[in-house]
Amino acid sequence: MKRIALGNTGMKIHPLVYGTLPLGPLQAGLSPEEGGRLIRHALELGVNMLDTAELYETYPHIRAALDGYQGEVYIVSKTHAPDAKLARSHVERALRELGRERLDIVHLHGARQADPFVERADVLEELLKMKEEGKIAHVGLSAHYISAVRKAVDHPEIEVLHPLINRTGMGIIDGSAEEMAEAIAACSRSGKGIYAMKALAGGNLIADARQSLHYVLGLAGMDGVAVGMLSTAEVEANLALFEGAAPDEATWTTLESKRRKLKIMDRFCKGCGFCVTACTNDALAIVDGVARVDEEQCILCGYCAAACPEFMIRVV
Ligand code: SF4
Ligand code: SF4
Repeated sequence: MKRIALGNTGMKIHPLVYGTLPLGPLQAGLSPEEGGRLIRHALELGVNMLDTAELYETYPHIRAALDGYQGEVYIVSKTHAPDAKLARSHVERALRELGRERLDIVHLHGARQADPFVERADVLEELLKMKEEGKIAHVGLSAHYISAVRKAVDHPEIEVLHPLINRTGMGIIDGSAEEMAEAIAACSRSGKGIYAMKALAGGNLIADARQSLHYVLGLAGMDGVAVGMLSTAEVEANLALFEGAAPDEATWTTLESKRRKLKIMDRFCKGCGFCVTACTNDALAIVDGVARVDEEQCILCGYCAAACPEFMIRVV
């Protein structure tokens, strides 16, 4: 079974990390049982790290997947909390709902911060305190900003990075894919474990999925890639690709012809603009009193869906 050292953490991971965001209510809305079955299938085939977040609402899916499972599994969550108190409550909720005493990694979910070490210093301090208390094994940083990844080099307390990168650079807020790749390599040289997000730009690069995944997997210092998967065929095709096995052309042709998009139920949109503020990519605007998306800019991350008090947005 393929295993790669995740930087200096001591963790040995399969490079295919299960990204659980698409399973939950922000995207496909699978039940915990349905989502749990998919995760369990991946675990039984060798995947051993699950990526979730306070925002994703997929703890029940993970808990269902792990019911009776005896194999090794690492669980990563993230907190977008603006202050220490809320960050602590996010971690405690994750522990409670996942039924665990310790989370393997908790990221400072810093998508929108150019300098999370200044802007979220108290949250980072709280996560490190929870590490000392034994509730977190490793503290990490998830980032859409190259500047945040560059700054992480000088922060040894950040042991794992979860940067946004794909071959077009879509979603990187302050530069190109090449510049992000250089920052990632520098972090890896400093001993951090790295696994990528948005290798397919939230589905925008699905037509060239294999080429896009190979690009990210081939970057210097890259230990793994989180991929959201919604069928057993998708799990098996990705596992084969990550392990260098011969591709199943029929499955990949089907997967690469799938299209996803952001759906806003504008008939019921109140025009409050919370989704616009939540968007990391300036892809939303209020036009004629309702939210409208610029599909060229949208990376289908679903953060706007989490911010909508009326539940009017879904990635479908
Ligand atoms: S519009 Fe929504 S899904 Fe698209 S990039 Fe913005 S927050 Fe993400
Ligand atoms: S948050 Fe929801 S209700 Fe408010 S503008 Fe956006 S889609 Fe409309």
